[in-house]
This record gives sequence, structure tokens and C-alpha cells, in this order.
Amino acid sequence: MIEEELVKKLGFNKVKINEPLASHVYMKVGGPADFYYEATDARELTEAIKVAIKTSTTFVILGNGSNVLISDKGVRGLVIKNNAKEVKFLPHGFVEVDSGVENAALITAAKNRGLTGVERLIKVPGTVGGAVFMNAGDTVRQEFFGDLVVLVEIIDGQGNVKKLRKEDCWFGYRVSRFQTSGEIILKVKLQLKQATKEEIESKAKDILVRKVQQPPGPTLGSTFKNPPDNFAGKLIEEAGLKGKQVGGAKISEKHANFIINTGCATASDVKALIELMKSEVKKKFGINLEGEIRYLGEW
Ligand SMILES: Cc1cc2nc3c(=O)[nH]c(=O)nc-3n(C[C@H](O)[C@H](O)[C@H](O)COP(=O)(O)OP(=O)(O)OC[C@H]3O[C@@H](n4cnc5c(N)ncnc54)[C@H](O)[C@@H]3O)c2cc1C
Repeated sequence: MIEEELVKKLGFNKVKINEPLASHVYMKVGGPADFYYEATDARELTEAIKVAIKTSTTFVILGNGSNVLISDKGVRGLVIKNNAKEVKFLPHGFVEVDSGVENAALITAAKNRGLTGVERLIKVPGTVGGAVFMNAGDTVRQEFFGDLVVLVEIIDGQGNVKKLRKEDCWFGYRVSRFQTSGEIILKVKLQLKQATKEEIESKAKDILVRKVQQPPGPTLGSTFKNPPDNFAGKLIEEAGLKGKQVGGAKISEKHANFIINTGCATASDVKALIELMKSEVKKKFGINLEGEIRYLGEW
């Protein structure tokens, strides 16, 4: 039986059954995981994936849950929360980072070493694994996380660990190979540049000023990608949807590409609102908005 196998191999106290996921994601919605396991380092992360493969358990990795909408019905199989957090600085601006390192921690550690580049992830409340998966970054400056990548260490669906070069990762605007390959990101090697503290702080300030436009509280960040030569938020606003609410999910008054959880939203509320935004923009402007968020679980 899968449950017994997982518990035996990953530890009696470590595997939680029917764990509610809402508290583990930024939007604070979603049902339970059949099985939930927190990997505290890269070894545990690799081991949990190998156990899932060996026991034919479907599994999914959760970083900080800042870009996922988890179904109200929850997630079948095993959810592995990635808390692998080692950062190793190497000579010449290279840095090797576990995929569970939080962006904010990496930004601070790099700044303390006089290294610049990762500021593009300021106020992106995810992990390095999530940043590789989504090729997260600063759309206004056209600076993406993938630009900094030298190598990505992954584990594939057969449990083989491999290293991929940047050019093999197919990075694009919020696109990477990992969105279709099913491979899990274990570690990343980045190339950063030397800079003065003042240079790093001035760049950070410029980004922070822009982020003031974003609403606080539980959200998924940008709901849609910007269409070519346009802005998703502007189109949604011009479709008259700012402030529109479905159940407890509301389109932010501050930034129309952000949906906020007013406190009692369900995942179905959020999904219904997303569909409304899409259909109204299509009706009014003939533009198909493309989602930026990832749906996890049983829909
Ligand atoms: C307030 C707010 C502001 C935001 N601002 C920005 C912004 O400016 N720019 C931007 O690009 N994004 C932004 N986002 C979106 C989000 O933070 C990013 O997409 C982030 O990179 C997601 O990282 P995460 O660790 O939270 O990933 P999660 O949400 O946990 O996961 C996202 C997807 O990645 C997969 N995944 C996670 N880790 C791994 C791994 N190690 N291996 C394989 N797959 C993995 C998950 O299975 C899931 O499918 C924002 C979100 C919020 C809530």
C-alpha cells in the first residue's frame, strides 16, 4: 500500500496525511494533499522524489506556493514542500543554490557579497526552483531569472540526476522546459556580477518603487501574462472589471491583473473570476489572455 510504503521510507513523523494546503500557499486557498512531506535539504528532496517514483505515487513540488492555485478538492498523491536551502558562493561570481532557497534570502546573501543580478526577484515571494520553473523576473526591465543561469541540476521521471545548460532550459517569457518536462529542479548554478553596495541599493530601490502599485495580502501575483505590446492589467481595467468580485475573490482596485483573496475565497471563486476576466477581455478587445499561474490538483 502506497501510504505504508511512503511512511516507511520517508519517516513516520514526516509524512502528513490529508494535509490542508491553503496555509502552505500564498493565496491561502485549496484543499488537502493526500500525502505531504517537507524536504529540509537537497538529499531529502532527492530521496522523496525517488521514493515517489519507486512507489508509483504521483507527486508535485511546492516551492513557496506563490504562483499556484490549488483546487478545492486538493491534490492526489504526494506534495513535496521544498525547504532545501543551501547557498554556496564560488570564486568569480558563481553561486550554487538549492532550489528551495527563498528569493529574498538569495538577494540578501548576494548583496552581502557585493554581487548583483538577483535584484530582478525583489518582491517575487517564491523560491529559486519556482523562479527557474517560471523564468520569473522583472518584465518592465526585461530581466529574467533564466538570464543568470549557468547550469540546472535536475532529477528526471526515472530518478536520474542530470545537469542541464542554460540553452537546454528553453527559457522564454514565463516559460521554461520544466513546465512540460516533469523534471524537478534540485540546484542551480548562477553567474552574478560584482557591484558596489550603492549600485545594488539603487537598482533595488528602482524596482521597489514600481512594486508599490501591487496590492498587499493573499494573491497569485499577475494572473495573466502581458500580451505583445499591451498590458493585461490595462485591458482588464478597460473591460470595466476593477473591483469585480466572485465569492471571496476580488479583482484588485489597485492593479487589475491581481486577484486578491478577501479572506473567504475558494479556489473555485478564483477560477470563475479568471474565466470572467478572460472572456470579457476577449469580448471587448478580441485578445486572448494567457494565464501566468499554475493549476495544481484535481479540477
Ligand atoms: C505578490 C506577488 C508578486 C509576484 N511578483 C512577480 C514578479 O514580479 N515576477 C514574476 O515573475 N513573478 C511574480 N510572482 C509570481 C511568483 O512569485 C513566481 O512565479 C515565483 O517564481 C514562484 O515561485 P514559488 O517557489 O512560489 O513556486 P510555486 O508557486 O510553489 O510553484 C510554481 C510552479 O513551479 C513548480 N515548481 C516549484 N519548485 C519546483 C522545483 N524545484 N522543480 C520543479 N518544479 C517546481 C510547481 O510545481 C508549480 O507548478 C508574484 C507572486 C506574488 C504572490
